Amino acid sequence: MQTQIKSVDVLVIGAGPSGTITAAILKKHGHNVCIIEKLSFPRFVIGESLLPRCMEAFEEAGLLECLEKKGYQQKFGAKFVAGDGDTEQIFDINFSEAHTEGKTWTWQVPRDDFDKTLADECEKKGIPVSYLTEVVGIEFNEDESSITTVKKQDGSFEKISAQFIVDGSGYGRVIPKLFSLDKPSEQPQRQALFTHYKDLNRETSGNNEPNRITIYIYDKMTWVWCIPFSNGYCSVGFVGSPDFFDRLKQESPEEKLKYLISTHKNLNARFGNCEMRLSPMTLKGWSSSTEKFYGKGYVLTGNVTEFLDPIFSSGVTLASVSAQGAALLVHKKLSGHAVDWENEYQRVCQKGVDVFRTYVESWYDQKLHTVFFSKNQNENMRKQISSVLAGYVWDDTNPFVSQHKKYIEKLSQFLTTRD
Ligand code: FAD
Repeated sequence: MQTQIKSVDVLVIGAGPSGTITAAILKKHGHNVCIIEKLSFPRFVIGESLLPRCMEAFEEAGLLECLEKKGYQQKFGAKFVAGDGDTEQIFDINFSEAHTEGKTWTWQVPRDDFDKTLADECEKKGIPVSYLTEVVGIEFNEDESSITTVKKQDGSFEKISAQFIVDGSGYGRVIPKLFSLDKPSEQPQRQALFTHYKDLNRETSGNNEPNRITIYIYDKMTWVWCIPFSNGYCSVGFVGSPDFFDRLKQESPEEKLKYLISTHKNLNARFGNCEMRLSPMTLKGWSSSTEKFYGKGYVLTGNVTEFLDPIFSSGVTLASVSAQGAALLVHKKLSGHAVDWENEYQRVCQKGVDVFRTYVESWYDQKLHTVFFSKNQNENMRKQISSVLAGYVWDDTNPFVSQHKKYIEKLSQFLTTRD
């Protein structure tokens, strides 16, 4: 018996933020879209601190309202802390003090609930989301249309024909893996160890802004994220070289995390006596890249294009902005217009990634530590850096965007001699 083939205009792989934003924008423009998602939702995924720029993508997709109703912890800036206890130095960024006009706040979100809210809203908009369904094969035709094979939970297979495919499969990297497009990442391998703590001491541990995301420098190459949620939990994660974690004498991830917390005065005061809601998880070697973000009949969005490092919370924002751009270009193409994917898509995405790459590298070689903790900061510089850290990495009127490498380099050299 011949398998019946379903047919859509656009097949979207993955129901993470990049998948749901792309699908919602395409649906808004009248296209027949479906989302194929390997897991059932809610599911855990890391990436809980957003940047203001991603709000524009949710807005364009008509997904902001459903998120607003959830009461997630609002994020108005970020705090970077060097030293511990009496030696503490703080660099505190407010997104409202910005060089680039745009959104001045965002959220800190448990992603299981956040991603489910987005996917449910897509379904309400009439976009079918097939959970527990995995994309296992794709064949492209001469005219760029395709036949995708999906495997369902019961082990059966189904075929879906589409005019275009958007791959938002995140760490799944479906198209790069199926067509051997992966490129080795140039970022050194890093590792994270994290959990969600019941945040019992949020109001009493002496932090005057206890709801603000705080990044603690633990040692030169190791840092800690502390992302409070409105549900009474706080995400805490150590990031460092795999060696750093291997050298710890403790055996289990839980013992290692407890030990690390106990060695830091601020973190111990806040989480030393708190329960973990999740068994601590370890992730490593997450950086990934691919040569081309598009091809005949498909475009890659979100983490599938490139993911660098969690230090500046750029992941969901780059995912959302690439999804927004990709959706508008797919709409243009399906409306019969030519699309210059190289210039209209790849270069734009790459530009944002490249700016963040400079900031990530300058964090780990400590140039940014010099800049952040200098006594000689000026207001303009703070505003310009604030806009980059808000995700406005395409604004060439900001010299910390247009000449990102040179500005960080020169400024850190200058401040080293002044301080
Ligand atoms: P995802 O959110 O990963 O969604 C992809 C979806 O595709 C998944 O649901 C998956 O199940 C599905 N899928 C995969 N394979 C298939 C398949 N074959 N068929 C069908 N479906 C499939 N980002 C931030 O913005 N802020 C942070 O604070 C932050 N912290 C991070 C900390 C760490 C340690 C790491 C490693 C990353 C962090 N990130 C952070 C990055 C963030 O996790 C990602 O950038 C973000 O989730 C990317 O969204 P996405 O939509 O591209 O992919």
